Amino acid sequence: MMKTKIRSKYFFLVSLVILAGCASLEPYIRDFNIISVPQEKEIGNQFEAEIAKEMAIVQDSAVNNRISAIGNRLLQGFPRRDFDYRFHVVEDKTPNAFTIPGGIVYVHTGLINSASNDSELAGVLGHELGHAYRRHPAKGLTREYGIDYLTKLLFKDASTQGQLKTLALNLAKGGILSKYSRQDEYEADEIGYLLVKKTGYSTSGLLNFLRKIMVLEQQTGRSVPFLASHPPTPDRIARLESFEQNSPSESVLNG
Ligand code: ZN
Repeated sequence: MMKTKIRSKYFFLVSLVILAGCASLEPYIRDFNIISVPQEKEIGNQFEAEIAKEMAIVQDSAVNNRISAIGNRLLQGFPRRDFDYRFHVVEDKTPNAFTIPGGIVYVHTGLINSASNDSELAGVLGHELGHAYRRHPAKGLTREYGIDYLTKLLFKDASTQGQLKTLALNLAKGGILSKYSRQDEYEADEIGYLLVKKTGYSTSGLLNFLRKIMVLEQQTGRSVPFLASHPPTPDRIARLESFEQNSPSESVLNG
């Protein structure tokens, strides 16, 4: 068991050295999710434990059950499940939702309260599940911190353990995730749209929520966290409207 672990660690490191040593591969490394699914789960578990210590996780079962029920229904739209997806609610007035590596989705109470119905929440959760499914959080982390750092984190190297809290909160507050590419955001919108459609929610849920949030932003002059990291809201709204005529291809779920 130990031997296998060491060998796989060694193999992982050697692979990294080979990849890192080849300059011509560099442009691909940036976009290539070099962390395996089990490794991503392990990193996600570490962040999840840290966030549970640092943020006010809601224990009210009525709220949790509502969010989990919507999330679990959406999950039925995925052709495969790489992760043990789970959903947490954070006591926080700002309307926000975020996803950390390993398929772990967080929703603020502020977002739940801003949503008029389950369809709007399904739209938001579908979008977040789209990020999780295509492993955007792990990709963002790799891009932001580099492979060496993540390897240390993965093997609980003492030099990274002290920074786990900062890193977890950075993830939660969108510091890293604001670096999702526009392509990632559009992809998450497409997957979210397909999920709500396949699982019988109204396809206009996310659209209605975004329209409402955009008005809120205009009224307060402050950017809403859920939107701050995304392409311009009018662009996303126009794109989501176009899905009603031209539904995104299911091929986005097969990548
Ligand atoms: Zn997003």
